[in-house]
Amino acid sequence: MIRCPVCRRVERRFLRAVAYGSYDGGLRELIHLLKYNGVRPAAGVLGRMLAEAITRLEPDFGADKILVIPVPLYKGRRRQRGFNQAELIARAALKACTAGERLLLATDTLLRTRATQSQIGLTSHQRRENMRGAFAVARAAEVTGREIVLVDDVYTTGTTATECARVLRKAGAATVWVATVARTLKLASKYEELNVPEFQGLEAAETDEVESLETVKA
Ligand SMILES: [Zn+2]
Repeated sequence: MIRCPVCRRVERRFLRAVAYGSYDGGLRELIHLLKYNGVRPAAGVLGRMLAEAITRLEPDFGADKILVIPVPLYKGRRRQRGFNQAELIARAALKACTAGERLLLATDTLLRTRATQSQIGLTSHQRRENMRGAFAVARAAEVTGREIVLVDDVYTTGTTATECARVLRKAGAATVWVATVARTLKLASKYEELNVPEFQGLEAAETDEVESLETVKA
C-alpha cells in the first residue's frame, strides 16, 4: 500500500497494546464518572483494571525499571477538568500492580504541546494530521534506553498512542508498550474482522495500529 509521508512516519511505533475490557456498559460508565463527573474514587477501580492489563506485559519486561507514562492532556483541558484521568488511573494501577516496585511513574516527561480537535469522524490520515506535533518529550535523558508503558483510559483508533510512541522512540526510548483500561467497540469488531484473512487488506488503511491490541477481559 502506498502511503503519504504523514501516514508513513507514524506507522506503528509500539510493540504491543493491551486493554482490560471493552468500552461499553459498566466500564464505559465508570470512565465517564471519572472524566466527566469528576468522581475521583472511580480511578481506584479503573487502576486495578489497568494493573491487570499491565500484568499481561510483565513477561516481556527487561531487568531495568519500567517507566509508566500517562498520555498527557493539554494544559487548558487539564485545568478545565482539574486532573488528568490517565494519570489518576496510572497512580492507582501502580499501587495494585504485582510488578509495582518495578514500575516508575513519570508524569512530566511527555507533554501535550497543543490542543487537538476531536478525532471523531476523521479519516485515519486526518487523525494523524491532527495529532502531528501535539506531543513532546520534556527531558529526553529520562527516556533514553528505557522501556516504557504508555497508559490511557481508552484506546480508540491508536492514533494518539502511535504519535506518543513515535515521539518517545525519537527521544531514545528502547521499547514502548501501550496499556489502557478499555478499547472501543468499533475497534473490537474491526479487530475481529482483522482475524479473517480476506479482510486484512481491506481494513488495513483504517486499522493499521490494531493488530497487536489484546484484551484481558472479553
Ligand atoms: Zn496520509
